[in-house]
Amino acid sequence: MRRRRRPRAFPAVSRSARRPRPAPYDRAEILTRWSGCAYCDGPAEELDHVVPLARGGPDTSDNIVAACRTCNATKYTHDLACWALTEGSGAPCVCDS
Ligand SMILES: [Zn+2]
Ligand SMILES: [Zn+2]
Repeated sequence: MRRRRRPRAFPAVSRSARRPRPAPYDRAEILTRWSGCAYCDGPAEELDHVVPLARGGPDTSDNIVAACRTCNATKYTHDLACWALTEGSGAPCVCDS
């Protein structure tokens, strides 16, 4: 008499499917591509989201430029137009950030 062998259930553990997500952008590439701050003549030191993440901007390379520390810090979460208007002029923020 033959015993039917039941196929063994596959273990529920899938091979670690957690591969590191490729970064949505290449920091070094962006800094090199701009070869300077996108907003002034300063050095490219940091990445800046043109439309800040806080304002719903995407975290993708077409929303990211190189910026110097000063521009990045003063722009912060202001939208570009507001920052351009207020930066250095002392005018009050118009974008509510
Ligand atoms: Zn700058
Ligand atoms: Zn503002």
